[in-house]
Amino acid sequence: VSAPAVLVLAGLDPSGGAGLLADAETVRALGAHPLCVATALTVQTMRAARRFQPVDPSLIADAMRALLEEEDVRAIKVGMVGDAANARAIRALLPEGIPVVVDPVLAASSGAPLFSGPPGELLELARGAILTPNLAEAEALLGAPADAGKLLERGLLAVLLKGGHLAGAPVDVLATAAGVEQFAAPRIPASARGTGCRLASAIAAGLARGVPLRDAVIAARTYVREYLRKRIPV
Ligand code: PLP
Repeated sequence: VSAPAVLVLAGLDPSGGAGLLADAETVRALGAHPLCVATALTVQTMRAARRFQPVDPSLIADAMRALLEEEDVRAIKVGMVGDAANARAIRALLPEGIPVVVDPVLAASSGAPLFSGPPGELLELARGAILTPNLAEAEALLGAPADAGKLLERGLLAVLLKGGHLAGAPVDVLATAAGVEQFAAPRIPASARGTGCRLASAIAAGLARGVPLRDAVIAARTYVREYLRKRIPV
């Protein structure tokens, strides 16, 4: 049997540190098959993001329609979308009944913006989906301090609030209708790009393979932690 397909909508980071190339690598590593639609082109190096250009929303929509028609898509990952028009075009074509993971990308780690428009558009895009914000993204989406439970109330299926930017030991918080669970582990002393992209793609790959959300989150955290461990400076 062939690997289940994950439709990935994300920005192209030519350096491969994050974005579509990192997503494809992750999806394959977790036993699924990536189908990749570029939502934006970026100019980036491993150091910083310099510039981005959103792709025409009608091109993204046509690519989504074509792949959803002809491929047996089992999960969808949405990363960087670029602007509000793209967020709405993607939102309109997300099918019912396929799990969707949305990583609400607003800016690169270097601080450079990767989204132009009101952050609330990304919350709208994630309605009924699994949202994986970091602390800054959660705050921007809520217009209030980051709170997984408050985000969940906005019509999401689940929220994984990532605590990687907390001072001290990082704690991720998973909020679903079943309740709130915390995942804590010691900080790994490495800095790497694209950890958010990889975590969301790893969750989507697990869901595509039929793994329940909680187990997919645990496996995705293990995968990203292993990725970080390989990047501890010697
Ligand atoms: N570039 C693209 C295309 C992305 O999707 C992301 C995702 O967050 C980033 C850059 C940001 O990566 P980093 O946080 O490593 O700068």
